[in-house]
Amino acid sequence: MTDRVFQLSGTCNNYPWGKHGHDSLAARLCQKTTPGFQIDDSKPYSELWFGDYPDFPARVLTTGEALADILARNKETLLGDKVLTTLDPQLPFLPKILSIAKALPLQIHPDKNLAAQLHAKDPSSFPDPNHKPEIAIALSDFEVFAGFQPLSQIEPLFRHHPALHQFIPADAPRPWTNTTLRAVIHALLHADPATIHQTQHALLHHPTPTPSPSNDPHQKPPQINTTLLTRLQTQYPSASDPGTLVALTTLNFLTLSPGSALYIPADAPHAYLSGDIVECMARSNNVLNAAFCDPSQRVQNNKNLEVFTEALTFSKAHSKEDVILPSVVSKRGRKGRIQVYQPPMREFEMLRVELGGTEGGEEEEMEAGDGPGVMIVTKGQGKMEADGKVVGLAEGSIWFVAPGVGVKWKAEGEMEVFMAVV
Ligand SMILES: [Zn+2]
Repeated sequence: MTDRVFQLSGTCNNYPWGKHGHDSLAARLCQKTTPGFQIDDSKPYSELWFGDYPDFPARVLTTGEALADILARNKETLLGDKVLTTLDPQLPFLPKILSIAKALPLQIHPDKNLAAQLHAKDPSSFPDPNHKPEIAIALSDFEVFAGFQPLSQIEPLFRHHPALHQFIPADAPRPWTNTTLRAVIHALLHADPATIHQTQHALLHHPTPTPSPSNDPHQKPPQINTTLLTRLQTQYPSASDPGTLVALTTLNFLTLSPGSALYIPADAPHAYLSGDIVECMARSNNVLNAAFCDPSQRVQNNKNLEVFTEALTFSKAHSKEDVILPSVVSKRGRKGRIQVYQPPMREFEMLRVELGGTEGGEEEEMEAGDGPGVMIVTKGQGKMEADGKVVGLAEGSIWFVAPGVGVKWKAEGEMEVFMAVV
């Protein structure tokens, strides 16, 4: 019979927005657990993946076998009935550690219908038919653009700044509707490089415009955040990238402290800007990038930019308040030391176990679940007892835990563990 609890190695990738060398938490954690992985300080390290997705797969540490293969051979034991009867016969979630030095592509993840259509038409760009709602939990201060500002903030910004008038459709109603906003974003994304350059320049030098007769004299002109504008310009100096304009004029800018989390539903725009995070998503790699990226990766032919702007939804669930995902005490922790982040989706939730540095170390015991779990130690060290075995845990340790297996953790000093579960 196969082991029900086993250690994994992860795979770290090198997207240009990642933190460099040893500054990258993703790289430091990967180095501790992955045989043969050496950090090169001249390279960026962006994401440590530890799921069964084929792109950057987790492997069984002792044998090197891909996690996907051992799951496929032992579906009943390792995935369990709940996954096999209600989801696809594979790990329903994809956990990652991200170390972000500069803005990631401004992106959305298509919903299930759109993902299936895009995958059928262009499987090389859209590798699976699944949706990809995701959560991001801050491990450090985490800056992000996510969800739309209310129209009541966006509209006055565009009306007060002469440089932005050109992006307002001629037939725009007052007040704006979501259709107006979609047209404005469409215009920003299709602007030519000279227009983008001139607009950024004008906003930088006139962040607070003088009131004009067409504006309400009682309304204070909205400010452009010039500190952010300058920072984004140094990150994406290519004048052809419209990301800075779209993000600063239409999206919420948020700073999360460690432990705080975001939920990004399908079709919601987002661009992560800086920090170390735990990320987890439904098992998919479908993304539509519109800006903040190498033009070669951008969905820049007009057809795909159309798909991006058409897919944007403006539901309440994308507002600033609604993208914040609070954590609550998990009923699975016997001692109340497990927090759970529960996005409104059935593929996964994320547990966080934080054990403090009391003498001898704190303990927690987690009741068995009915789906698979994958955990990573992000801080500290300790021991784990599961399925009749006691094993040592160190920073960077990644473990698979089968359905029906309870776990006891004991910290040596302090220890922080994240665990994706169904
Ligand atoms: Zn994303």
